[in-house]
Amino acid sequence: MNFATYSPSMYFMEATYLIASILFILSLKMMSHPDTARRGMFLAEGGMFAAVVGTLIGGHIISWTWIIAGLSLGSIIGAWMAVSVPMTAMPQRTALSHAFGALAAALVGIGEFLVNINELGPVKRGALGFEIILGALTTTGSLIAAGKLQGIVPGRPIQFKGQNIVNLATAAAMAGCFFYFWFNPEASAVFYSMLGIAFLFGVMLVIPIGSADMPVVMSLLNSYAGLAAAATGFVLGNNVLIIAGTLDGFSGFILSVLMCKAMNRSITNVLFGGFGSVIAEETHSAGGVMREISLDDAAMQLAFASRVIFVPGYGLATAQAQHAVRELADMLEERGVTVKYAIHPVAGRMPGHMNVLLAEANVPYSALYEMEQINPEFPSTDVAVVIGANDVVNPDARDNPKSLIAGMPILEVDRARSVIVLKRGQGRGFSGLENPLFFKSCTSMLYGDAKSSLTHLAQAVQHV
Ligand code: NAP
Repeated sequence: MNFATYSPSMYFMEATYLIASILFILSLKMMSHPDTARRGMFLAEGGMFAAVVGTLIGGHIISWTWIIAGLSLGSIIGAWMAVSVPMTAMPQRTALSHAFGALAAALVGIGEFLVNINELGPVKRGALGFEIILGALTTTGSLIAAGKLQGIVPGRPIQFKGQNIVNLATAAAMAGCFFYFWFNPEASAVFYSMLGIAFLFGVMLVIPIGSADMPVVMSLLNSYAGLAAAATGFVLGNNVLIIAGTLDGFSGFILSVLMCKAMNRSITNVLFGGFGSVIAEETHSAGGVMREISLDDAAMQLAFASRVIFVPGYGLATAQAQHAVRELADMLEERGVTVKYAIHPVAGRMPGHMNVLLAEANVPYSALYEMEQINPEFPSTDVAVVIGANDVVNPDARDNPKSLIAGMPILEVDRARSVIVLKRGQGRGFSGLENPLFFKSCTSMLYGDAKSSLTHLAQAVQHV
């Protein structure tokens, strides 16, 4: 980089890149806590805006027509997605964004190959190869992930005999093309073969994974998309792409590891375990009977309790019951009941799922308690209300070493004096396992859609 040849607009561009990079780092830090996460998002948006403005002013624009067309189309699609995609479809929407980001990296790589390949030295050629491979496999991998989450592609793991060997052979062919291209940059057939195999590899990588493990996979794909962007930065000599891509790459990887830890699974088990297919064969039965409770009895218990803990899970998200639970909580608090919310790190289907939903309903952050904080409080709690949660409250994870989820940390609701479970019927959770909590003597079941049960409970509490 020779600053002596810089024009004022290029200095301006580098300055905006520096500001953008600082904003990205600060935003990541702020997003690690619910209190500051929203402001963190604004900082990230500001950083992205600064980087785009800097790039536009910094020069190298060949055709404003294409830039304006792309900007307008992207803004319209982005705004439409932001207002029309429901909260429950956020995981697949995120997967689509990863696919588009990675496709952009792959397309820039193809552009560099067509226009500048003879000017790239060995280091930049290596970066170009990485950009193409990571960009292409992330594009198809993320599209399959979005399809599985949306139900367009079968959500169960698609597995066949010798799958791992086929995958290894595909990866080896891709690596072979990479090295050949590295030493023979004019070999365009090999370059395009590498691109095609990487697209195929993305599909092969994701089809054997069950839809329930998709959030972990998406977080990994997010990490690959970030690294593809960083590789693009090396090829183009663009600092903000290198910094933002690396931040994205490593934060995505750390998030995947944290999610696996919270589910007590290893990354290899998620990627190669075919979790959904194994659990379908699981036959363990907790036995006993589930005791049903009437709406009026449940309302009575809540109205006369002094401590209540709400435990939301995936069913709260599907029922969109966040506002209903807030209304019930307000009503109980007006009667002098102490109300808290217990948040499991992997409740729902994406990290922070419950925090986001409850924040939307203006539940104060101070009322949300993490697992380690709230578990010691269950024994002194009168009623724990489980709202569409299942695996995250399954005592087998703690008590049954043979359980498929043994060792997964849980919210110990079974230690509360009384437990009311709100769910529609006998449906199992994401793991497909039976939950002995539902058969315990302290537990009673209030069947129905969570939103309607909560709304009716609030009405009944009012009349107690
Ligand atoms: P869960 O184990 O998936 O259970 C959800 C329960 O909600 C079901 O048993 C279902 O029973 C009930 N339900 C569904 N729709 C409902 C509705 N409209 N009204 C009332 N109930 C409803 O959920 P969870 O306890 O939150 O556990 C999350 C699981 O996802 C964990 O196993 C976790 O490892 C996994 N996971 C999470 C993440 C993440 O980042 N959060 C990522 C990957 C995997 P009925 O059908 O009988 O109603």
